[in-house]
Amino acid sequence: MKHLSLRHAIIETAQKMTALGLNQGTAGNVSVRADDTLLLTPSGVAYEDLTPGDIVSMTFDNRWSVENPGRYPTSEWRIHRDILSTHNEVGAVLHAHSPFCTTLACLQRDIPAFHYMIAVAGGDSIRCAPYATFGTEELSKAALAALEDRKACLLAQHGMIACGTDLTEALKLAVEVETLAQTYWRALQIGEPTVLSTQEMQRVLKKFAAGYGFGSEPDNEP
Ligand code: 13P
Ligand code: ZN
Repeated sequence: MKHLSLRHAIIETAQKMTALGLNQGTAGNVSVRADDTLLLTPSGVAYEDLTPGDIVSMTFDNRWSVENPGRYPTSEWRIHRDILSTHNEVGAVLHAHSPFCTTLACLQRDIPAFHYMIAVAGGDSIRCAPYATFGTEELSKAALAALEDRKACLLAQHGMIACGTDLTEALKLAVEVETLAQTYWRALQIGEPTVLSTQEMQRVLKKFAAGYGFGSEPDNEP
C-alpha cells in the first residue's frame, strides 16, 4: 500500500487527539501531504477503529480513492485541500472540536495576546473564523482568511484548526492552542485579562523566529 508509514502516522495522530482530550467520538479530522497528494481521515469513523486501508488518498484536483469499501473522505476535505494547496510550508492539518477552543468559538471570540505564547500560532492573536456550515466551501474560505499569517484558528460554533510542517508539529500546536484557550477562559472567569502591546508581541515574535525551543541561547538577544 502506498504511503503506509504516513497512513499509520495519521491514525496515531488521530488517536492521540482523542487520548489528549482534543477530540471525542468522530469529531475532527487529520490530513498530511504525501508527495503530490493528500491523505485524509475518512468521514464518520471512530479513530480507534481506523486501519491504513481506511485512509483516503486525494489529488489536489479532488480525485480520491480508498482501499476499504464504505469509506469516504472527511466532510472537511475542502479545508485540508485548500490549506495544503496554498501553504507550501504546511505538511499536516488537524481539525478538532477541542473543548476550550470550541467554548470560545461559540462566543465568536478571537484569542488576543493575553499571554505571550499566543505567538506560537504565528501572530499576536488567534482569530475566530465566522460561522459557516461544516463541510462547505464557505467554511474553507473563512478558515483560510482566519489563517492568514497564522498556523491556527478557531471556527465559530464549531472548533479549531492547527497546521504544522508535519503531523507531530501540528499536534503539538493543537495542544498548545487548546491550553491557551483554557487559560484565557479561566482568566475571563475572574476579570478582563490584560492584553500585551503590539510592540511587546513584535518582540516575542522576533524571539520565536530566532528559534524558540530549538536551542536559542541564553542572553543571546535577537
Ligand atoms: P468527519 O467525520 O466527516 O471528518 O467530520 C467531523 C467534523 O469535525 C466535521 O467538521
Ligand atoms: Zn468539525
